[in-house]
Amino acid sequence: MIRGIVLKRTFLALMLVVPLFAADDITERARRIQSEVIGIDSHIDTLQRVLMEHVDLGQKLPDGEVDLPRLREGGMHAPFFALWVPTFYKGSEAVRRTLDLRDAMQSVLDRYPDRIELATTAADVERIVRAHKIAAVLTIEGGHQIADDLAVLRMYQRMGIRSMTLTHFRNNDWADSSTDKPQHNGLTEFGKEVVHEMNRIGMIVDVSHVSDKTFYAALAASTKPVIASHSSCRALSSLPRNMTDDMLRALAKNGGVVGINFGGGFLSQKEADVTLRDINRIGGSEPNLTGKELDDYTTKMHIHDNWAHPKPTTANLDDVVAHVDRVVKIAGIDHVGIGSDFDGIAEVPIGLEDESKMPALTAALLKKGYSEADIKKIMGGNTLRVMREVVGK
Ligand SMILES: [Zn+2]
Repeated sequence: MIRGIVLKRTFLALMLVVPLFAADDITERARRIQSEVIGIDSHIDTLQRVLMEHVDLGQKLPDGEVDLPRLREGGMHAPFFALWVPTFYKGSEAVRRTLDLRDAMQSVLDRYPDRIELATTAADVERIVRAHKIAAVLTIEGGHQIADDLAVLRMYQRMGIRSMTLTHFRNNDWADSSTDKPQHNGLTEFGKEVVHEMNRIGMIVDVSHVSDKTFYAALAASTKPVIASHSSCRALSSLPRNMTDDMLRALAKNGGVVGINFGGGFLSQKEADVTLRDINRIGGSEPNLTGKELDDYTTKMHIHDNWAHPKPTTANLDDVVAHVDRVVKIAGIDHVGIGSDFDGIAEVPIGLEDESKMPALTAALLKKGYSEADIKKIMGGNTLRVMREVVGK
């Protein structure tokens, strides 16, 4: 009996003391939360580095923003690796390049089977993260990569790819891009078929990069939630790649999620013009090449653009928080996620320079009054829900 009372007193004392200590140390709390979340960054371009620079993701790299140690340190345990193919790869060339990127991903999976594993379902993501490994979710970035052939789309799905951005910087034969002249009034009939087939085979429709009309057409055609894997809010930075408040409301109605893009121009109006110029330069290049010559040209451009060494920026961690706040205000807490675009943006925010810094964002959200449950949704819970709903368990 006496022992019971002593235990009860000790417990009460702990109840009083522990929260005080925890509140005192937001940084520690953020690190703990980040080690517990299933952190999903819904867009990284790191495979470009693996394919063209042959970087070893098993090491903590001195440049760029992503590798296995930094994903683990930042608690971003389930990144979406984009197999991005520039739109100047046409038809079967785009398919060939997609296979090269898929092969590059396989080289990472084969080299570090005890540290990273392919995840093709939401349950896979949970199991792999529980086993203290990185869960790699694969996506393709640009509908041109299916070469107007639904069989190619289905084969990508069979290769483990679970999402596709409908366009990139330029229109394709069936969908308009946000950074090109309108051509199809959104989606063509075939474009709608692509969306239906993605719904049917369990691939997430990604509406980042598409024109506003394509966005609404995709939402009308899709029977499943969609994602905007790496876009931010147009109300805060008027970039065509960002989402208007009306689009955010429509996304909420659809049950979808927007992953906040960390690029300078995506976050800050001051840098939007520079970002748009970069987009037009990349989207506008049309080398008349094929095969190895085209690959060599792409590598030259990749090295020239120096993605691994971001340019100075004024955008910072507070801007990222402001974009999260905006989505929460307009669409609600269930519709926001993280889509940094790391290794594919020219500038990274001050205070969030790479994946290892993500606990700083969690700490900032705690300071803003977000609950742990909210933060877990933002950091990956929302995107995992969409994956579960679209891809299946
Ligand atoms: Zn992109």
